[in-house]
Amino acid sequence: MDILDVGLKFSGTLSKRSKTDEIVLHHAAGNGSVESIHNWHINGNGWAGIGYHFYVRKDGKVYRGRPIDTVGAHAYGENGHTIGICFEGNFESETMSDAQKQAGAELVSMLRKEYPSIVKVSGHREHNSTACPGKNFPFEYIAAGVKLSEPEEAPEETRNLYRVSNELIVADPAKVKYTGDGVFTIVEEKTVNGVVYGRLKSGAGWISLADAKKV
Ligand SMILES: [Zn+2]
Repeated sequence: MDILDVGLKFSGTLSKRSKTDEIVLHHAAGNGSVESIHNWHINGNGWAGIGYHFYVRKDGKVYRGRPIDTVGAHAYGENGHTIGICFEGNFESETMSDAQKQAGAELVSMLRKEYPSIVKVSGHREHNSTACPGKNFPFEYIAAGVKLSEPEEAPEETRNLYRVSNELIVADPAKVKYTGDGVFTIVEEKTVNGVVYGRLKSGAGWISLADAKKV
């Protein structure tokens, strides 16, 4: 998923978080841009900048807030070990759009992947005396996350080890001999920048580059 960075400027030094085991979900209790929240947290609260690490707008666009590895300012007493995500809107009165819900769920899954140490997703009200993120907030849906799709194949420019199936892509297949058990067949040949690449497939199991020798 795309995380948009509008280049927010923070004042002073943000301290790094030493632990990350939880995501806390919030609503903005209103509408507006990530810049407007950033300015409000600076000028209204006297903070270094936006207190949340991410901001999800109603159209499903996700914005970077405070740098992800720094201590946020979003859940009193819990900032030292949590990542804060804020959702545009007031979910005490509104209901969330599908685009925003989906983006939130994807973001939760992306963060869980980046921080396997995360063991919990909570709503702000579990920690402090607040209605945040609101009674209509689709907490179960967003906290559950989504299955992230894996890339289909290695990036074109690497053309190296193929992880998706029992295939291997090598440059110039005529000069490569597979020495593992079984044989390989050339499934496909493709010329990129004048170099012929072949996708090799073994009879059983995966082919690793260690088994493919130049001849
Ligand atoms: Zn909150």
